[in-house]
Amino acid sequence: MDSLSILRDYVEGRMSHPEWLDWWALHSGDVEAQLGRFAFLKIKKRGFSGALSILEEAGVQLVPASGFCNSCGEPLFKAVPGVTTAEEIRAFASLSKIGEADEIVESGWIHPGEYCPNGCTIVLHSYRRA
Ligand SMILES: [Zn+2]
Repeated sequence: MDSLSILRDYVEGRMSHPEWLDWWALHSGDVEAQLGRFAFLKIKKRGFSGALSILEEAGVQLVPASGFCNSCGEPLFKAVPGVTTAEEIRAFASLSKIGEADEIVESGWIHPGEYCPNGCTIVLHSYRRA
């Protein structure tokens, strides 16, 4: 089993975040054995971003998937008008550490954009009216 090729599957979006978490839970020891303690800690602390920087340092050519926080590596929540439901917004806000989470849970509304559940990244989208 080659840890780098699994990291690449994750970073390029061929492996979902839940699949990655399952894999990491079982194989983080293999990663440490194959790639070293530093790589292990990087992935442990920064998740997706850590895996991406290890691949880049190893000189692997890749096209990273979008939708992950650059800081902590968590998948970003996307709020899209007319697509994202109030229930999805409430579920996200109740589990996240973003500001004003209580108000968002109450109203079921969030400004359109992408949000890191840890509150490190927020990208607000503005939609032009036709
Ligand atoms: Zn984050």
